[in-house]
Amino acid sequence: MFRYPDIDEKILNMAAGCEKRLADVYKEADDISEANQYKVLKSFINNRVSESDFAAGSGYGYNETGREKLEKVYSDIFHTEDALVRPQITCGTHALYLGLSSLLLPGDEILFITGKPYDSLEKSIGIQECPGSLKEMGITHSITELIDGSEFDYEGIEKAINERTKIVYIQRSKGYGDRLSFSPEHIGKAIAFAKNIKPDLIAFVDNCYGEFVDYDEPTDHGADICAGSLIKNPGGGLAPMGGYLVGRRDLIERCSYKLTAPGLGKEVGGSLGILKALFQGLSLAPSVTANAVKSAAFAAALFEDLGYAALPAASDKHHCIVEAITLNSPEKINLFCGEIQASSYVDSYVKPVGADMPGYSDSIIMASGAFISGSSIELSADGPMREPYIVFYQGALTFEHGRYAVMRAAQAVGESD
Ligand SMILES: *Cc1c(COP(=O)(O)O)cnc(C)c1O
Repeated sequence: MFRYPDIDEKILNMAAGCEKRLADVYKEADDISEANQYKVLKSFINNRVSESDFAAGSGYGYNETGREKLEKVYSDIFHTEDALVRPQITCGTHALYLGLSSLLLPGDEILFITGKPYDSLEKSIGIQECPGSLKEMGITHSITELIDGSEFDYEGIEKAINERTKIVYIQRSKGYGDRLSFSPEHIGKAIAFAKNIKPDLIAFVDNCYGEFVDYDEPTDHGADICAGSLIKNPGGGLAPMGGYLVGRRDLIERCSYKLTAPGLGKEVGGSLGILKALFQGLSLAPSVTANAVKSAAFAAALFEDLGYAALPAASDKHHCIVEAITLNSPEKINLFCGEIQASSYVDSYVKPVGADMPGYSDSIIMASGAFISGSSIELSADGPMREPYIVFYQGALTFEHGRYAVMRAAQAVGESD
């Protein structure tokens, strides 16, 4: 490994030890990347993606062949009937809310079976009051907690499902939770269990941070619909904005009517010249995701060696790109995030501090010196400023970049002990 002049000998030697230990983990990430690369390439070839598909549409965006092909490519990769992949879907939260608000009607209930959903959804659902929430529209929710942060509460799920339950909702990635992320197979077991109780349930998966981390996707294991953000894994670092939904045709149709208007649906929505970035980013996404997984495993190993708990542990299988490291103090979160920011290509001179963010109730610190604002497939670290002070590390686009930044963070946190 390169002897970085600004990383001290102690950390460099620890890092070399981590590299040895992680050989099998890296190999598996590369194997998965190769299989996913093939899947993505085949879908481009089968759909005859051509240079003319990159042309910029405007206005209503009727007959944008590139947009239609991109959605075909997404549905082929996820093995679904249809897809909605749009710059007009502004972020992951928007994709999820779009899906839920399209599929649920007054009187329906949604059951969250991976505990309380991701922080930014609390207002969407109405866990916190907000105009436009599902609650305001007469849609109720219930939640079953995970057992020991790693298994579904099957008994609780059975009790919670009632005649009004319409959606069973699974969050693949831990988000800001202190738990493991789920493999698509494991998600599939819970879906099968729930559908056995009530066959017409819609299985809805928050796939944020999970795309291309495993060989399969939740839609290969019974999910009826999945949603995510294009400035995370599937955008490959090149998508400048956007979100996606993939799933059953009737469900995607409802979502398209909510995104634009009933009757218009997928027919409108100019892509304003970003299609090339969405296609090219998708072509890179399997490899970029593997770089992020390897960087996450490296962070786990190095911080474990320094005496901190990492989830997933260095030797655990990763099912999303997030590495959660319990640092136990706000000062250490500041140090960690400060070094990630200082190791970024953009805005390296900026010092991140905790602040209120739209959609989140705790103060959140975010280190992100990204080419695409807020893109967390690029090198990034963030976390809510609350006990037990866990920092959530994601990215980077290249493994070398991720590894360097993690060593700097380890050096700063290690020196503060
Ligand atoms: C990132 C993320 C979201 C959505 O977040 P946005 O910042 O709105 O894109 C939702 N769920 C999980 C698990 C996430 O990681």
